[in-house]
Formats: sequence, structure tokens, C-alpha cells
Amino acid sequence: MSSVRTVLGDVRPEDLGVCDAHDHLFLRSPQLPGRELNDAAAARAESAAFRAAGGTAVVQWTPYGMGRRAADLPLLSRATGVHLVCATGLHQAAHYAPELLDGLRGRLAEVLVDELTRGIGTSGVRAGLIKVAGGFHGLDAHARWTMTAAAEAHRATGAPIAVHLELGTGALDVLDLLCGELGVPGDRVVLGHLNRSPDPAVHREAAASGCWLAFDGPSRANHATDWRMPEAVRALAEAGFGDRLLLGGDTVVAGARSVDGGPGMPYLLRRVRPRLVAELGAEHVERILIHNPARAFAVEWR
Ligand SMILES: [Zn+2]
Repeated sequence: MSSVRTVLGDVRPEDLGVCDAHDHLFLRSPQLPGRELNDAAAARAESAAFRAAGGTAVVQWTPYGMGRRAADLPLLSRATGVHLVCATGLHQAAHYAPELLDGLRGRLAEVLVDELTRGIGTSGVRAGLIKVAGGFHGLDAHARWTMTAAAEAHRATGAPIAVHLELGTGALDVLDLLCGELGVPGDRVVLGHLNRSPDPAVHREAAASGCWLAFDGPSRANHATDWRMPEAVRALAEAGFGDRLLLGGDTVVAGARSVDGGPGMPYLLRRVRPRLVAELGAEHVERILIHNPARAFAVEWR
């Protein structure tokens, strides 16, 4: 039987409910000095605000070594009533100290499998997905290394692989590597940030692989393309890919939280949902927020 691996244990996919399929409660990176998501009270308030807006599940894409605070997630999930799914995996090299990456050479797949099956550190919390990242319009050696390890961990566990696309680019290179060379089934790959590069032909070609297409934001970094998200989603739905789409808030810095004055997680339901309902109709949007994530993150764990 397939299940979604949350921080409180495995749940039936249909129990997830309204899901923010790509977001962050905790995240730190040398790339974002002073803007870390590292405040448990704010994370709890943001989750509660999402719950109050009707949200019931959040998939946190923060990978290994970026301040996930896995040990804090069960309490937060219990306190707010929001299902939380936590990631393992590795982001781009720029987000880490070189020594940390050196320490993972030759054993990355093993670490990923351990976090998916045994737990993250001593927290007892098991990851429910593997997050990796591509580069700008291509893949560097680090991306190939991490994706190869992710594919190995996927084969060992069944876990889905969620991919940060740099500014939304490189989708087809990622699919060529993961699904072509490494043999990961398309429906076990989630491409993130597609909204940042709104090329409808690339979106359709990616969708034809059977992968999941995640649209996220808004954020200041995506501002130039945020307004094109509804039309990109509609074009994919009209092309017959409505059952491959996911939505997320992707809150990556403290100032983007709703409780700190940003759009944050509730914005997804407060503004993005009605905007998409106007574009696609309520039934389609319900599918994207409820039924698609239940399938995208459900795993026959092995
Ligand atoms: Zn993200």
C-alpha cells in the first residue's frame, strides 16, 4: 500500500488534503546571510496561518545540511494540525561549505537512504522525498553527482525526487539525466520553479515525460514571471497535463513569511487559488491542490 512519509509517520495519501507541494519552514544558506528561516515560533505561526487559510499539508524541500531542523518538525506538525513532509538530498554546491561536500563523497546515496528509512540524525524523523538541483540551462558535475545518488536512493526506497530548476531552466537536461540515463520513472520526478522560465513548449515537452510540474511563488525573485503562472498552468491543463501539476509557496527567506509581512504560505490559498479558479475552474484547481500531491508524494516504500 502506498503512503506519504510525514514527520509524524506514514499517512494515507488521501489524508494529505490541501497541500502546499513546495515550501520551507526552516532553511539556511551562506547565499542568504541574515535572511534565514530559523525561528521555530515564526515557523509555527506561519503553519498555523496556512492551516487557518484551509491548508492541511506542506512539503518542505529543504535538503541535507541547510538547517531543516527535522527534530522540531513533529511538535510543529502536532501543534498546528498540518501534515509536514521533510526532504533529504543536496542543493547546489554554493549552498555548502566545501568540507561538508567532501565528507559526502562516495557515500551520498547511502546517507540519503538512511535519512529516508532510518531517520535524520537522531531526530527519528524520516524524509519523504529527495531534493536535488540543476544548474542554469544545464548540469554541472555537482548536479550529476547528486542526481546519480538521488536515483540510487530512489531505486532503494521508491522516494520521489524533487528538482530545483535554476531560474526554471534546464528541465529537459534534468529529465534526460534522471529518466533517460539513470532510469528513474517520469512520475517519480517533480520539477520545481517552472514558472520562472515560462516557455510553454518546454513545459509541454517536460510534461510528456510523465513528470510532475511544480509552480511556486510568488516571491520577489520571481516577480518578473509570477504573473504568467496562471496562463502557463492553463496551457498545460488544456494540453491534457492537468493531472501532473502542483503548486507551492516556496517561502525561502524570513521576510517572505506572511507572519513577517510577506505573502507566505497562506497567499497560495488566499490569492493564487481564486486566481487559478478563474483561469481553470474550481474542479481543476482542487485536483492540483489535493489529488495531484497525494499521488506525487505517495510511495510504495521499499
Ligand atoms: Zn524551494
